[in-house]
Amino acid sequence: MSTYDLLVVGSANADLVVAVDRRPGAGETVLGSDLVVHPGGKGANQAVAAARLGARTALLARVGDDGHGQLLRTSMESSGVDTSGVLVGGAPTGVALITVDPSGDNSIVVSPGANGRLTPDDVRAARELFAAAPVVSTLLEIPLDTVAEVARSLADGARLVLNPSPPAPLPDEVLAVCDPLIVNEHEAKVILGTEPGPDPEEWARQLLALGPRSVVITLGAEGALVADADGSERVASVKVKAVDTTGAGDAFTAALAWRLGTGERLADAAAYAARVGAAAVTKEGAQASYPTADEVATL
Ligand code: ATP
Repeated sequence: MSTYDLLVVGSANADLVVAVDRRPGAGETVLGSDLVVHPGGKGANQAVAAARLGARTALLARVGDDGHGQLLRTSMESSGVDTSGVLVGGAPTGVALITVDPSGDNSIVVSPGANGRLTPDDVRAARELFAAAPVVSTLLEIPLDTVAEVARSLADGARLVLNPSPPAPLPDEVLAVCDPLIVNEHEAKVILGTEPGPDPEEWARQLLALGPRSVVITLGAEGALVADADGSERVASVKVKAVDTTGAGDAFTAALAWRLGTGERLADAAAYAARVGAAAVTKEGAQASYPTADEVATL
């Protein structure tokens, strides 16, 4: 039996949030609320989402030798994430500097910091983690050559789940092992390099032609679409009152990756992930909104 259900290779950020009456223009200074610091980054979000559902989850990531790095590790550990693969040093912990105005519009500057220093060598040195998980999930908030090394490092029979966010064109060797490639409409556009038209079934066909073994397209309140060589299938969303959609995509991806590792069919894993995504939009925040398996069952 594997030691873990899921290995996430990705980013960990401290999100520094200040509420303002009006976001500043060029050269302007405005006063804001007290600073609020949230744990974030798509890798950490996925790891926490999976662990909260009960998946035995490890994270391979890099944080700085600083207070934010310590905070992130502590919060992940309290959610049950195995952080033995979280490396320390090389640059300050990644941060997202977020100002949000009363209408909810925000301006965000991301300093990738240590996330940008997670190297292919770090992946090679984590051979034991790769050998211990049936599914590996990764994303693009870490360098692309590191993602390519993840694709080369999968243990025999292990499955790669990739959410290419923030989106960038992907090398063929990465696309070829994605099972699935998970995208929203914006990410689909960038990966395809064209405006994909109104029909998600058609986006899925075009994406499959690039080489991934399967594709999942997330459609917000409309649910999702799964597709592979055998055809495509719509996955219904669960009707909920949406309060904050931040981090729903990360929760969806983590839940799907975990369920695939238990041997579920792609469409069934996506149906479960859609319930997790729906639960995540009913509460404020990203990690703070992620449900337990019991909460998903009673949704
Ligand atoms: P993110 O904004 O986190 O990057 P995303 O665009 O990658 O998200 P979404 O499509 O917004 O992903 O959400 C992922 C999944 O969560 C959806 O496929 C859906 O199943 C569920 N979901 C999202 N928003 C809602 C909603 N308003 N109601 C019900 N389910 C939702």
